[in-house]
Amino acid sequence: MHTFKAFLLFACVLSSFQVGCSMSQKRESDGPVVVSTWKFGLKANEAAWQVLSSGGRALDAVETGVRVTEADPNNGSVGIGGTPDEDGNVTLDACIMDETGDCGSVAFLQNILHPVSVARKVMEETRHIMLVGKGAEEFAYEHGFDKTNLLTPRAEERWKRWLEKNGRGQLPAINIENHDTIGMIALDEKGNLSGACTTSGAGFKIPGRVGDSPIIGAGLYVDNEVGGACATGWGEAVIRICGSHLVVEYMRQGHAPRKACRLAVERLIARNPDYREIQIGFLALNKKGEFGAYCLRSGFQYAAYTTEHGNRVIDSKTKL
Ligand code: ASP
Repeated sequence: MHTFKAFLLFACVLSSFQVGCSMSQKRESDGPVVVSTWKFGLKANEAAWQVLSSGGRALDAVETGVRVTEADPNNGSVGIGGTPDEDGNVTLDACIMDETGDCGSVAFLQNILHPVSVARKVMEETRHIMLVGKGAEEFAYEHGFDKTNLLTPRAEERWKRWLEKNGRGQLPAINIENHDTIGMIALDEKGNLSGACTTSGAGFKIPGRVGDSPIIGAGLYVDNEVGGACATGWGEAVIRICGSHLVVEYMRQGHAPRKACRLAVERLIARNPDYREIQIGFLALNKKGEFGAYCLRSGFQYAAYTTEHGNRVIDSKTKL
């Protein structure tokens, strides 16, 4: 009996040690938190923090935050200035999800500067979740959005050079120039979570292609009881495993955010034989304000803003 108790004690100590080891960036105090993908997330976090630090709602924070990236013409993978499809059209995907589990999404949207805000309108003003293409564009105009040319001279130049060199039907491998979505998850002072995700998708894609970013459960998922997650990288691989939902479900099982992201990357490897040719990053924030990320191969970074540490860029742990 004595030996059995000692064994139990040993097992407990061991398991708490393991939990401690796999812990993501831990919280040191209460207060809002916002995390977003890539280094360009820093600027988006700044805007989101303005909302969060004045007691605002996480939903407003994530919309305000990713709009900064959408409006930046120098960012070649989100919003205006985004890399076009192989016909030279910039087509945008975005979604948003709030603390009640309500969500909205737009895909294959053209000529609109802020797809995330159209997604929010879909969520708040219709009984639908997802609008695509011309329907989404018409809906945007009806709700006061202006027509905007999203193809900047720089992006057009990039497209022409690519077309000349490769011709149609030659999707380039995912690299820093032809992808990178902004996904953002925020926790507000009230302890509520929301998320947003927005992208121009894979560069030089086949016209009509939609990636993971506007698909609830793939590019983004938020469950206010547990946490939120978002994805960046080769969207097809993320869709196959419902990546962000999977990360949230791993957190529900008790895994810390970084470990949950790692488990999702491992699932992705198992389901995608081409995994050595692609890049994927998952980023997660839980209800306690702990966060973490994991990626398939090195190079993925994310930005995190907390009261304790301010706004900073963190290198994600990597599988390969
Ligand atoms: N996930 C996006 C897509 O596949 C692109 C990216 O994040 O790099 O459309």
